[in-house]
Amino acid sequence: MANKTTDVDKTLKALKKRHINAQHVENTEQARGKISAMVSNNSTVGIGGSVTVQELDLENLLLNKDCIVFWHWHGTNQEEQDAIRRKAMNADVYICSSNALTHDGKLVNIDGTGNRVGAMVFGPRRVIIIVGVNKLTKNLDTAIERIKTKACPPNARRLKKKTPCAETDQCHDCSSPQRMCNVTSIIEGKPGSIDMNVLIVGEELGY
Ligand code: SF4
Repeated sequence: MANKTTDVDKTLKALKKRHINAQHVENTEQARGKISAMVSNNSTVGIGGSVTVQELDLENLLLNKDCIVFWHWHGTNQEEQDAIRRKAMNADVYICSSNALTHDGKLVNIDGTGNRVGAMVFGPRRVIIIVGVNKLTKNLDTAIERIKTKACPPNARRLKKKTPCAETDQCHDCSSPQRMCNVTSIIEGKPGSIDMNVLIVGEELGY
């Protein structure tokens, strides 16, 4: 069985080598403290669709700091959700998770809409990416496999999408109109002027 401490250390070193700020905290409470310190009061903050962010109850933390939060999950229809997604792209700070993080420091994400992968690399100036230890993975192949079997199926069920993976927990490279895998992004280094911060949390978070 892989040694989690060794994997975390290896991943932190690899991220720093890629000029991405990286920190490790033991638990969600410490994660909330770090995130609070990284977001100034009264900031505008965009949130990517993220069960991790929900599990950390970050929206309330941010509202208590008088931040204005743009989270498309609160939109009541497609048009409203898209308008919120666009505001999130122009916020001061963007907070999301990553679907997978390889031991050599590559952040791997698959989006249906693409707003999250876009905002992570050329949206808000400060980006905070929270990664539970369950998302650390050996390499790109295992990262994609994790996303297709551990992230997409439960997300499809949560969103009530009728994709084949929602039924079988396996990817069928579907052509469903509700396909969730339309845009794949691999971040291999700090993008341009973005202040990119990865926070690895020593607990299982999100999908
Ligand atoms: S391509 Fe389709 S079946 Fe495969 S994981 Fe994505 S949504 Fe599911």
